[in-house]
Amino acid sequence: MSNPLSREPTVLLTPGPVSVDAAVLDALARPVRPHYGASWAQRYGSVCQSLAEVFGTREDVMLVFGPGTAALEMAMASALAPDDEIIIPDTGRFARRLTAVAKAIGLDVHTIDVALHQPLSRAELQDALERHPGTRAVALVHHETGLGLMNPIEELCRVTRDAGALTIVDAVSSLGGVEVAMDNWGIDICAGVANKCLGAPIGVAPLAVSERAWKAVDDGRAKCAGWYLNLATWREASTTRPLHPHPTTMATSVIEGLSAALDRLLEEGISATFKRHADASARVRSGLRELGFELVVDDSAASPLTTAVYAPAEMNVADYMNWLEQEHGLLIAGAFDELATKAFRVGHMGVASEMSVVERYLAATQAYRER
Ligand SMILES: *Cc1c(COP(=O)(O)O)cnc(C)c1O
Repeated sequence: MSNPLSREPTVLLTPGPVSVDAAVLDALARPVRPHYGASWAQRYGSVCQSLAEVFGTREDVMLVFGPGTAALEMAMASALAPDDEIIIPDTGRFARRLTAVAKAIGLDVHTIDVALHQPLSRAELQDALERHPGTRAVALVHHETGLGLMNPIEELCRVTRDAGALTIVDAVSSLGGVEVAMDNWGIDICAGVANKCLGAPIGVAPLAVSERAWKAVDDGRAKCAGWYLNLATWREASTTRPLHPHPTTMATSVIEGLSAALDRLLEEGISATFKRHADASARVRSGLRELGFELVVDDSAASPLTTAVYAPAEMNVADYMNWLEQEHGLLIAGAFDELATKAFRVGHMGVASEMSVVERYLAATQAYRER
């Protein structure tokens, strides 16, 4: 019998999690370190500093241990009180996740029905802000990963700020893959995750918090947050116990992996990293079009990080995906909701943004079509 462990590992072309490079795997294999003490505090601080560069911020960055959703819940629950009004435009799957979280913590959510597979426009947001003058915050998804669609986040943030509301941005699948300019765009709280474009393992979600957001945390009203997912708890730990900068045990091995991934990203250069993702997506889009596929999102709003693709009528998506994995060791993702079984998604994050992997994927897809 063949040993299943001897097979080449499957390469993830999923839009998270991602396959990580060898330096990150080496970092994960180091002995476990404790989450306190001078040398650990220094490591934690330098990871947060590298992340600040990627967030485009001089404000505070902290690490939340959990999935991206934990950081997003922490953002909304720490800055807002029960029954506070928040606008969350329905731009897709992850906007609906934000809405579910906001409702669960007791916020009063105003939605905006955005046209299917289209980005949110500035006018739509402006209109909603005028209709709901009591709005305290707007939560926006930068890259809608379910569609591979970019929202025009810079102008949406400006409209939000002009209305005096806090801007909370879900940059979970964009941080490290495209520009995020937190300070220049006026984002108040911005959440990312390690296991997407940052090319790191699963388990940690970076969160950046502006001075304005801290003022909301400190405005004296009782917030939705409990103890753990509460920015106030985090700040207290980092300011009163510098050698134990996190309120609880933290996932040190995951930080070692994230640290290696960030070193690589900053060594390559932030703009070179963005170009790597853009080149991979451009090649996948043109290669699939040459093979006769139709893409879900128009080029004008298409993301360089994920491509959603309609399956031709005669193609069985599940069969294609299984075949890619079994025959070629390549894992792509299915699609959600109205696109389920009709489309598939190809991620251009982590190892999947390397051109050799892109070419392997396109060649395999051509072979599938020609069987
Ligand atoms: C992946 C993703 C999330 C959720 O991330 P989890 O880590 O699974 O909680 C949220 N928003 C966007 C845009 C995502 O792509």
